[in-house]
Amino acid sequence: MEKVRATQVTAKALKTRKTFLGIDPHLPVCPYSLCEAMGFDLRFIKIPSFEGMYIGNKNLILISAERPEGRKRFTCAHEIGHHVLKHGTVIDEILECGSNKQEEQEADFFASMLLMPSSAVNRTLLLYGITADSITPVDAYTLSKYFGVSYQAFVTHLYINLRLIPYRHYQKLIASKLSNIRHSIRGLEVKSQVFNIGNWWDEKAIELEVGDHIVSSKTLSVDGPQILNSTLSD
Ligand SMILES: [Zn+2]
Repeated sequence: MEKVRATQVTAKALKTRKTFLGIDPHLPVCPYSLCEAMGFDLRFIKIPSFEGMYIGNKNLILISAERPEGRKRFTCAHEIGHHVLKHGTVIDEILECGSNKQEEQEADFFASMLLMPSSAVNRTLLLYGITADSITPVDAYTLSKYFGVSYQAFVTHLYINLRLIPYRHYQKLIASKLSNIRHSIRGLEVKSQVFNIGNWWDEKAIELEVGDHIVSSKTLSVDGPQILNSTLSD
């Protein structure tokens, strides 16, 4: 994407957050809350072959319920991007390697900048106590959960969009196995998400799904009886 266009899309992403939720660029955002604030009808449906859909004239966003949580949130932000960038109705089928279409690249870039603005990433690295050049797979995984995105989306964003890490570093991070990363955080084999909470994690809610694990060095408040019955552990 051309630099001028990238600057425009970034500005639109930040303006959308600010207009509908009043959120400053140094903080993360929940795309589902944003959808609600924008007046979208957001639905999760069971179609395994598709990622998401934006139907412009009905103000409707459909997301595949079959995908991992980070992926669903990113797709939601991507569909908001199609709306804000005035791409018209779009059906997004599952494409593991991304799409070359200009509109798809723009919607992906919009989603990355919406969920992980540059100043939010820099602030979080500072609070977490590392610089981007020293980031390990465990750090990247931990921070990806803070932003509510997949490990892959976070690492790719650091390299391609924010240019905070060089290609060799990116390659090393992307080659790391998620199962190994989760094991080193939790100390046992885990197939679901692991939230690694420290004092750096501010008031942002932890978006848990049933079966997720929490490793925390700080006291957490639990909101909602349904969470008490899940497999939370410290
Ligand atoms: Zn799309």
